[in-house]
Amino acid sequence: MSRTVLAVGGHIGDMDLTAGPTLAKMVLDGDRAIILACTYGERGHPRLTPDEYRQQKIREGEQFAADIGAEFRVLDYSDGFLPDDDEAASQIADVIRAEKPDTIITHWTRSIHRDHERAAMITERARFLASLPLEHPLPKHGVSQFLHADNWEDADGFVPDLYVPIPDAAFERWRAAIQNQAFARGETYGFRYIDYYEALMTVKGCLVGQPRACGFVVGGGPKFEVAGV
Ligand SMILES: [Zn+2]
Repeated sequence: MSRTVLAVGGHIGDMDLTAGPTLAKMVLDGDRAIILACTYGERGHPRLTPDEYRQQKIREGEQFAADIGAEFRVLDYSDGFLPDDDEAASQIADVIRAEKPDTIITHWTRSIHRDHERAAMITERARFLASLPLEHPLPKHGVSQFLHADNWEDADGFVPDLYVPIPDAAFERWRAAIQNQAFARGETYGFRYIDYYEALMTVKGCLVGQPRACGFVVGGGPKFEVAGV
């Protein structure tokens, strides 16, 4: 049965890099993917003004989503100023109620970027709000799987416990699509994003006996082990 996955990032481009190969694989498998950015990421260019870069980021986000067969959304928050409040969480919860995702992917909870940490926090809150019987035009919806994506900026304490093999067709589709984002090509501050995430997929693939894989932390609640089992 076809599934729906919702990937929530702090800035346009974050989920494209970290969840993008998995989203491309799911779309090729017949699933539906939605990429939702909480802010535009418009302050991430050393030469363009935020207004100029906001327009470019929106175009890049729309293009990437179209290229891998996903849908694109962005909330109207400013780069660097994503709030951790119920107003922001409610906007994501409304998307959850409307689109009924089976899986949510977002950032890890600790990051060098506050927008990333807050995106993870409000997405967890949104999952909770969407599950409540509230006075709301849309019915409640419970999301069964909640995953944190592997991001070099969110590495503190990130230890994957779920690996998704990435077939060649999904990798090639992701790689062609991500080339159209200036920051991923290293044109903003020079980090070799595409090289990093390609190498990361190879490393994770080695761990699970596959050509490539993406690692995730399974989140969304306390995990516990039973002694002796
Ligand atoms: Zn970001």
